[in-house]
Amino acid sequence: MKDAVTYFKYLKTIGVEYVEPSPATVQALIPAEQKPAAAPPSAASAPKKEEPAIVSDKEAKLAELAAKVTKCKKCPLHKTRTQTVFGSGNPNAEIMFVGEAPGADEDEQGLPFVGRAGKTLTKMIEEPRVLGMKREEVYIANVLKCRPPNNRPPEPGEVAHCEGFLKEQIALIRPAFICALGAHAAHTLLKTNEPIGRLRGKWFDYEGVPLIATYHPSFLNRSPEYKKEAWKDLLMLKDAYQNRRAR
Ligand code: SF4
Repeated sequence: MKDAVTYFKYLKTIGVEYVEPSPATVQALIPAEQKPAAAPPSAASAPKKEEPAIVSDKEAKLAELAAKVTKCKKCPLHKTRTQTVFGSGNPNAEIMFVGEAPGADEDEQGLPFVGRAGKTLTKMIEEPRVLGMKREEVYIANVLKCRPPNNRPPEPGEVAHCEGFLKEQIALIRPAFICALGAHAAHTLLKTNEPIGRLRGKWFDYEGVPLIATYHPSFLNRSPEYKKEAWKDLLMLKDAYQNRRAR
């Protein structure tokens, strides 16, 4: 303190009338007894504790349902599966895609639509001229949660046993729109046997949720000439989705 006063007196002698003091100088000039008590460390500077991941009620219920599916032995497909394929994506998705059943890649990885058909589905979702969304924004599941051997079509008994899981999954996710991929998904959800060619391109109601059906990505890989029709269906879905968001 004494040194500071001496220093300012010296500055005056050389003609300096005013000096902007630095915060450190101001602190040095305040007598110790007048200084405020040191503030406790702020929350920001306090060492951070590891935060537990926040899991919503919906996510917890979906995880519970997935665990139930893992143990399911209601139909013979449990004997041949490598693992169950519950579904994946955004639990708060506004659009939910429903396919038929897992294939070999899905059975191996435990995730839906990860093989060649999955690549086509990703393109259908992400292509800006089609749906133009990120795959992570939507939710993807199948009617059957276990792979039928040799990718054969699901049998009615298998669907009857497994369908309850899909119903619960849809009720938990509560999507704004459902897109049924292929005849099996459309037939299961709409309770009809109409060919997919007649079901596509129209809106239906699935327990209060608008549903549109289109061709399965595997079928589109085998018959690319139908892609044009599938793109039209997805553009209908895109329009409905964008109108809802604009409201
Ligand atoms: S296909 Fe469905 S009903 Fe059959 S064992 Fe798998 S989870 Fe259970």
